[in-house]
Amino acid sequence: MAPAAQAPLKTPKIKAQSRNLDFYYSDFKALKSISMPIYENKVTALIGPSGCGKSTFLRCFNRMHDLYPGHRYGGSIDLLPDEIDLLHPSVDPIEVRMRLSMVFQKPNPFPKSIFENVAYGLRVRGEKSKTYIEDKVESALKGAAIWNEVKDRLDEVAVNLSGGQQQRLCIARSLATDPEIILFDEPTSALDPIATGAIEELIAEIKNKVTILIVTHNMQQAARCSDYTAYMYLGELVEFGETEEIFFKPKRKETEDYITGRFG
Ligand code: ADP
Repeated sequence: MAPAAQAPLKTPKIKAQSRNLDFYYSDFKALKSISMPIYENKVTALIGPSGCGKSTFLRCFNRMHDLYPGHRYGGSIDLLPDEIDLLHPSVDPIEVRMRLSMVFQKPNPFPKSIFENVAYGLRVRGEKSKTYIEDKVESALKGAAIWNEVKDRLDEVAVNLSGGQQQRLCIARSLATDPEIILFDEPTSALDPIATGAIEELIAEIKNKVTILIVTHNMQQAARCSDYTAYMYLGELVEFGETEEIFFKPKRKETEDYITGRFG
């Protein structure tokens, strides 16, 4: 019998693409001409030694740097399929932050109730329907795997939750506005191993709905959670590829040295 024809490898769709992206903190050039695709419904991890530009790169995607004077972008970040350049001055950064939401290193719930934390983005958007907001809050809390723990205490202040629960709440807050991309900036570095495991499982689940870009200093985490990995050094993208390839068959010696712990 003839061997079954191998199914062609499916190239994922590109959700966003940085093109020759430069970034300057005043005179200091922190990112140097980075061109990289972010694939849809995949997890892309950014790794590299401290100070190489991972967070700077991540923060370009939701225009966080706009909040500080003197910061400057060069190049573009195209969001597909609309082909909007997220960095273009005509693009409203508030709208960008709805479409690309960020989860920070330290959980940062607002000093409000659990319910209001999740409803926040919907209210900012001008949503008025009580039932719509309730439904969205419930589905976001379910999506962030925290519904069962909080459903009977939605009116309690969020800061009473444990660190891991707060981080899942922040993920629910992100999910509530149906973002296209979630940007995770070292989301587990303030958490214990059990809470870390829960967040990693959650990332694996939500990638079915949303594209994920994650900065991590933990290489095991990158290997466990991501489909694609980018290795950065001194503001440059050294190598980008499928995570398995980057970890087991890197093309560049610099990547291999970093992965095997000979550097950094
Ligand atoms: P990583 O996330 O890989 O640790 P960062 O993106 O935080 O790296 O930093 C990249 C470079 O930009 C570093 O040299 C850092 O010192 C510099 N940098 C970061 N934030 C600022 C800032 N607000 N002003 C000036 N330089 C900064």
